[in-house]
Amino acid sequence: MLVSQLFPQTSKTAPAGAESLNQQLLIRAGFIHQEMAGVYTYLPLGLKVLTKLSQIIREEMDRIGGQEVLMPALHPGENWKKTGRFETFDVLFKFKGASGADVVLGPTHEEIIYPLLTEYVTSYKDLPIALYQIQTKFRNELRAKAGLLRGREFLMKDLYSFHASEQDRDQYYEKVKKSYLKIFAQIGLPVLVTKAAGGTFSDLSDEFQSLTPSGEDTIFVCQSCQRAVNQEVFDEETCQQCGGEFKKEKSIEVGNIFPLKQSYAKAFGLYFTSEKGEKKLVSVGCYGLGISRVMGAIVEVFHDEKGIIWPEKVAPFQVYIVGLDLESKDIWDKAENIYQNLQAEGIEVLFDDRKSVSAGEKFTDADLLGIPYRVVISKKSESNLELKKRGEKTTQLVSLAELKSQLK
Ligand code: ATP
Ligand code: MG
Repeated sequence: MLVSQLFPQTSKTAPAGAESLNQQLLIRAGFIHQEMAGVYTYLPLGLKVLTKLSQIIREEMDRIGGQEVLMPALHPGENWKKTGRFETFDVLFKFKGASGADVVLGPTHEEIIYPLLTEYVTSYKDLPIALYQIQTKFRNELRAKAGLLRGREFLMKDLYSFHASEQDRDQYYEKVKKSYLKIFAQIGLPVLVTKAAGGTFSDLSDEFQSLTPSGEDTIFVCQSCQRAVNQEVFDEETCQQCGGEFKKEKSIEVGNIFPLKQSYAKAFGLYFTSEKGEKKLVSVGCYGLGISRVMGAIVEVFHDEKGIIWPEKVAPFQVYIVGLDLESKDIWDKAENIYQNLQAEGIEVLFDDRKSVSAGEKFTDADLLGIPYRVVISKKSESNLELKKRGEKTTQLVSLAELKSQLK
């Protein structure tokens, strides 16, 4: 992609009202545009990041036997009345549809997936089933000032698993927990599995918390074994697992998984016939991961005073070529040739081909955008390329072949 063609160009200042750091940097760098509090357009660079995150998650969900579906954002209010959450879910968007019936904008999908499953599950032979989606959720959050960390409209991956016994569900739950750790390791965002209260519909849950001072959650982390507990359920003097000391930390909840109690299955009549011919309630687990929140969390965790520092796997492009002295035909041809050459290898490259922009501005933009590798091509670098990793200070002179091997 040529920087001269990229929509939009970067901006030096964040818009008034952009309070949080992820919001400021993502807006200035042209990844997102705010439409109203908690509601954003994903611009080309931002959508690339969201798509990469989604793909890492999708592949991992498929690997643990999840089958992808896409459920609606519009829900019949009737379903929410069956679970009682029409009245109790505090951030529910509700309105009347054309026929005067109550309609809900889905903040989560138990109220769709349970009734759906009742139409397909009758026997133990139909179980287990694991269905997931990557879908837009709506929550009428009171405070939506934390940029992508708290949207009123946001992207979530939600997985639901259905089992013939709690043991089977619990085994699968452990598998999902491991799979989440693999996802975050691939993304490059460090997380701590954190014990938390489960709310009304679950006894306990596990949260995936990413440590950063800007986080809204408070957790206690054992300094010896790294076990973490959310403040909301915290009643331990020292670590129950190893007796170690706890340290209080701020963090962002990027994922949350729950073994569900049987109340939803009862509300919707989700039963199956066991091997012995008994009628039993299906055991269910639900597993959320906030994809757009992860994007915001990455920016909160990985940045410096100059801009974002994307982990390689989720960066919108791998290389930012800063072309200097481009009025010289030799340099232009060289830069253009390297740009084409890297792209032919499947490497994603942004080529700053702008002729009316100063060297300083190009470097500033490269840093703000946070592309992992910056390559400078100029008269000074002669036949070599000047390579610098974002977030590091040292530059090295490399040949094209050396650059390619570093990128692989
Ligand atoms: P919070 O306590 O931060 O309000 P939650 O516990 O209500 O979140 P869950 O219902 O557990 O959220 O949703 C699953 C995941 O979806 C969360 O772990 C988080 O990553 C993400 N998420 C929840 N609410 C939002 C939001 N308003 N904006 C962006 N992501 C969100
Ligand atoms: Mg949660």
